[in-house]
Amino acid sequence: MATAISQERLSSYNPATGDLLGSVPIFSAAEVDAAVARARVAAETWSTRSFAARNEELDAFRHALAAAADTIADILHRENGKPELEALTEVMMSLGHLKHAVARAETAMAPKKVSAGLLANFRATISYAPLGVVGVIGPWNYPLNTPMGSIAHALAAGNAVVWKPSELTPLVALEIEKIAKQTFALPDLLQVVTGAGATGAALAKAAVDKISFTGSAATGKRVMLAASERLTPVLMELGGKDPMIVSDDADLEKAAEAAVYGGLTNAGQACISVERVYVAEAVYDKFVDEVVKQVRDLKVGGDDGDLGAMTSEAQVKIVKDHLDDAVAKGAKVLTGGPNAISGSFIQPTVLTGVTHQMKVMTEETFGPVIPIQKVKSIDEAVRLANDSRYGLGSSVFAGKSARSIAGKLRAGMTSINSVMAFAGIYGLPFGGVGESGFGRIHGDEGIREFTRVKSTAEQAFSLPINMMSFRQPKDAAKRLRGMIRQLYGDGVVSKAGDLLRKFRR
Ligand code: NDP
Repeated sequence: MATAISQERLSSYNPATGDLLGSVPIFSAAEVDAAVARARVAAETWSTRSFAARNEELDAFRHALAAAADTIADILHRENGKPELEALTEVMMSLGHLKHAVARAETAMAPKKVSAGLLANFRATISYAPLGVVGVIGPWNYPLNTPMGSIAHALAAGNAVVWKPSELTPLVALEIEKIAKQTFALPDLLQVVTGAGATGAALAKAAVDKISFTGSAATGKRVMLAASERLTPVLMELGGKDPMIVSDDADLEKAAEAAVYGGLTNAGQACISVERVYVAEAVYDKFVDEVVKQVRDLKVGGDDGDLGAMTSEAQVKIVKDHLDDAVAKGAKVLTGGPNAISGSFIQPTVLTGVTHQMKVMTEETFGPVIPIQKVKSIDEAVRLANDSRYGLGSSVFAGKSARSIAGKLRAGMTSINSVMAFAGIYGLPFGGVGESGFGRIHGDEGIREFTRVKSTAEQAFSLPINMMSFRQPKDAAKRLRGMIRQLYGDGVVSKAGDLLRKFRR
């Protein structure tokens, strides 16, 4: 790991068993600064390498991670509590980010020519250069895949990275750092600084060129405040309250399957979990029956369970609070419920009779809960779906009207007749609106997030009249008035060159 000399340590536990898995140092602010300084040196070399040279090392990194897939998945399984299959899926998704970033970086960062407009004697170019050092602050729910969405793209764009993992899941980050050190010629290219919130705050305040933060909106605000000291730009991937809309012409079995997976995968601890479902009156009963039937088939706990342990006690408390609140306000529990929580395991819970007066329909629950609300019309479903301060993902199950419904949703991403699919398509940018954050990871936009945009105006040849000069003809004002009329008023002028010639005459 990046060198830390402090004596204080942080322990990592298995949330399913309570077993101690290991301990890691707590990086002080000075140690974080030192890691950033080392990253800066690495970035200076890395940024000057060709895309081909960088890609060769990134491919070697990916191969080494793939070779260690079982070890990494096992750490994820034990440290986060997710079942083995979900842990392996997370490893696979993360490797996909690396492959995609390598495949797209050069194209995404290729200089672009744009029209020079009125300055027809100029060549106008947009180019993209690496930022330098990117600080990545990650969450515990997808402790590898989520940070890798930033790390892969930042590295491929020519930056060095300092990564602060969640205090609940530091071991997986250290395993990745170990492999990075064995693979990259520059050992400080990808460094991990472990610790709790204070270490994250130190990274946000450090001399990095961008912070890519994934976590809750509350912490995101604190990170923005800390980063504002140096006016460090930030990318915010925050929480969500993703709605699913099911129309009366939807394939109900598929919609139910998607609601069950989308609501319960990773025990509901996904920023793009299905957190609320709005179903057309005509098919509501059938849909609810199908969801309940599918949920009853799921296994909770065990290495091969469908749902694993919740990662933290704090999250179990939030889920219980939302369920208690819903039940007190009249929600009906069809499976699971507040009394079906045992330690870190929550039985998948289906609720009906829910309203927007309940926390479970308005605040991020982040647990294995599927609240289903009956709607009289699709317009009502859209209105309720948009009645949220969040706007991350969303999904629509419908026939012909699906695209039109999707177009009305205020969200960064929508899956039609599927769920969460936008997260698995590497070319699609990922991110939200409102309290779900801003900026984008994944896709070409996700590469350019970690670049500096440079605009260059190059004079290709001189014209007798130079617009960027005080040495103008006496009647310049009169000619300019004519130009304004012709260019922006009623006059019709086809080419900027024609106009300049007129100006010269
Ligand atoms: P938190 O906001 O609690 O923490 C996120 C990260 O920030 C952790 O590494 C945390 O460290 C660190 N941190 C805590 N305090 C500070 C601080 N003052 N300054 C800087 N960093 C700090 O989020 P969770 O880890 O609980 O993650 C769950 C949240 O993440 C959910 O809201 C979820 O929706 C969201 N999320 C969003 C995703 C997206 O792409 N939009 C994807 C995945 C999750 P520590 O853990 O050590 O306290």
